[in-house]
Amino acid sequence: EYKRRKEMLRAHELAAKYYNHILMNTEHGKLGLRYLEERGISRITIEAFQLGYAPDAWDVLRKFLLKRGFAEELLFEAGLLSEAQNGKGRYFDKFRHRVMYPIHDAQGHVIGFGGRVLSKDSGPKYLNSPETPLFHKGRHLYNLHRARSTMRSEGRVLVLEGYMDVIAAYQAGVQNVVAVLGTALTNDHVRLLQRNVQEIVMMFDGDAAGQKAALRSAEVVKDADVKTRVATLPEGLDPDDFLKKYGKDAFVRAIQDNASSMTTFRILSMRKDYNLSTDVGREDYLKAVIQTVLTDVSSPMELEKQLKELSDEFGVSVDALDQEVRLAKKSAPAG
Ligand code: ATP
Ligand code: MN
Ligand code: MN
Ligand code: MN
Repeated sequence: EYKRRKEMLRAHELAAKYYNHILMNTEHGKLGLRYLEERGISRITIEAFQLGYAPDAWDVLRKFLLKRGFAEELLFEAGLLSEAQNGKGRYFDKFRHRVMYPIHDAQGHVIGFGGRVLSKDSGPKYLNSPETPLFHKGRHLYNLHRARSTMRSEGRVLVLEGYMDVIAAYQAGVQNVVAVLGTALTNDHVRLLQRNVQEIVMMFDGDAAGQKAALRSAEVVKDADVKTRVATLPEGLDPDDFLKKYGKDAFVRAIQDNASSMTTFRILSMRKDYNLSTDVGREDYLKAVIQTVLTDVSSPMELEKQLKELSDEFGVSVDALDQEVRLAKKSAPAG
């Protein structure tokens, strides 16, 4: 079993090198190189992230790895090959016609890939490695092994959604940055991060999917023993877009100064579900905030701050709100 794992790791390492070689040195790779150039990715960044290109062909990687003695069945289990639908035991390259982003584990071994299509109209935008003995998307974070030393020195990590977001941030000089891999943050992710930092700042895309991921992630971190904040982006922008449009200084401000606490984020994101221009809507909103968010706040100082803000905005006394919180806690203990 251990030997099989090592074989899979070795296959991934070779595949990453091969995809990178195709991107940098071959005619096939020119398409990919042009794509990355158009997105503003420098050669230095391409090398730092070991980006690559999988050509528009069925068995380039397969042949390359078979020649080096790997068994097809192992490569299939490792997620590098797909099995043909009709003939069992017939395999072909899983990643074709895509820019390749190697995914590393915390020690820096390549354990999987993300692949992006070059143009919109050729299948799903991203294809990621499936769950394999090496790769579990709920347990790995993109770029963790490169970000770790800066995470430790700054005491903070920035969690983004996409490969390109991480690469753009890194290229702009923000190095303590990782991405979740097409999922919300999990408890395993939080544990990995907690070992290295005191604070997690999450910045998800300014769209419905990003908002949803942020809320789901908020649920996961709310009991974790680490400070967590959420930085929101203008509608329609993701971190990569934001960096291109507003530059690094604005990006850093969004992280350091403008990120709200997880509690504030949860309170604000509930607004869209209520009509705050009516008395009934305002009362329902306050009750819901108290029930679902404020009963989770364990710090008395944080609670007081939130109650004060709500009191100022809604014209209800802090005392009354505080009593509501106590009542809510009593009727739903242990939360
Ligand atoms: P780009 O800027 O290249 O268009 P993006 O990172 O902004 O890509 P999003 O659509 O915002 O793309 O997706 C965010 C992340 O979610 C991706 O980087 C990828 O890791 C993951 N993802 C997106 N689409 C898929 C998919 N179809 N399958 C698996 N993961 C996906
Ligand atoms: Mn998105
Ligand atoms: Mn993007
Ligand atoms: Mn995006």
